[in-house]
Amino acid sequence: MTQGAARPNSAGWDVTVQPLRDPRGRVGHVVQTVRDATPGRAEDARAGVAADSEELSSLHLRLDRLMALDKLKSDFMNLTTHELRSPLAIVYGYLSMMESGMLGELSEGLSEAVGSSIQSVELMMQLVTELVEMARLDETRLAPTREPVELADIVAEAAVRVDGSERHRLNLDLGTGPAPVLGDRAQLLRVFSNLVDNAVKYSPDGGEIGIRLRRVGRQVVVDIRDQGLGIAPSDMGRLFTRFGRIVTSATEGIGGTGLGLYLCRELVRRLGGDVTATSVERQGSTFTVRLPGTTRGVARSAS
Ligand code: ADP
Repeated sequence: MTQGAARPNSAGWDVTVQPLRDPRGRVGHVVQTVRDATPGRAEDARAGVAADSEELSSLHLRLDRLMALDKLKSDFMNLTTHELRSPLAIVYGYLSMMESGMLGELSEGLSEAVGSSIQSVELMMQLVTELVEMARLDETRLAPTREPVELADIVAEAAVRVDGSERHRLNLDLGTGPAPVLGDRAQLLRVFSNLVDNAVKYSPDGGEIGIRLRRVGRQVVVDIRDQGLGIAPSDMGRLFTRFGRIVTSATEGIGGTGLGLYLCRELVRRLGGDVTATSVERQGSTFTVRLPGTTRGVARSAS
């Protein structure tokens, strides 16, 4: 906490402004103390200061407790998510071996059971990965990695994910010329992969997935457009919230964690950009990522 300076004003009062900062250094509240500095009122003034100090130390104590609880929660989440990873990987490995027939031929019923078990384990693995990512975001809140990376390459790599779908066709327009931005390559790839995966996932009847990259002023702007289920105007506000799944009769059979878009926007915002969405129900959605461009050169790998 930062102690503000006492400033006597013309009417003989000392005014102290004390900003109360949260663990991330943001000012949440301000305590203003007005002290009568007139001679003879010293006793009252001291009492006033003591009361304020008591209040402050109780605030300190509460803040310490909250920070300890928050750390406990993060440690618990880290531990459980890491401990879940290995057994999930083993289950996934065996199920994949069963599916491929390596462990013997499967009856039709068993093959179906293995198929849906794989889907459920994949969803759990995605949830664990996103929880780990969320914990990491909290740890690196103040210092995101900012290296020059070529966004067109990253978007092209994410776009390949549409190839896995027989019902969709990809319309990829990366513009011309380089589009370098500052960020972490792996994280940005996750952002665009997530948006492309969603475009495929939420257009179950297929259609075109349009991905367009362009430079607008100093920004690099990427649109990911689908012709899928769309989102009702009343649900738009929940899109980017933690665990903000929108379950309708059309989406209830589609698996998800509700963390993907939250993570996408958090990551992009930390780099000084933003992710927004527009949508028309039953016609499709467009997710737009804006990132500040950079003039710093992208290091090329020696290959
Ligand atoms: P999920 O893991 O549920 O896909 P997301 O955070 O990625 O979580 O998305 C949150 C919700 O936003 C989803 O449950 C879905 O209802 C909606 N959504 C996301 N992308 C699209 C899209 N391209 N079209 C329609 N709805 C979408």
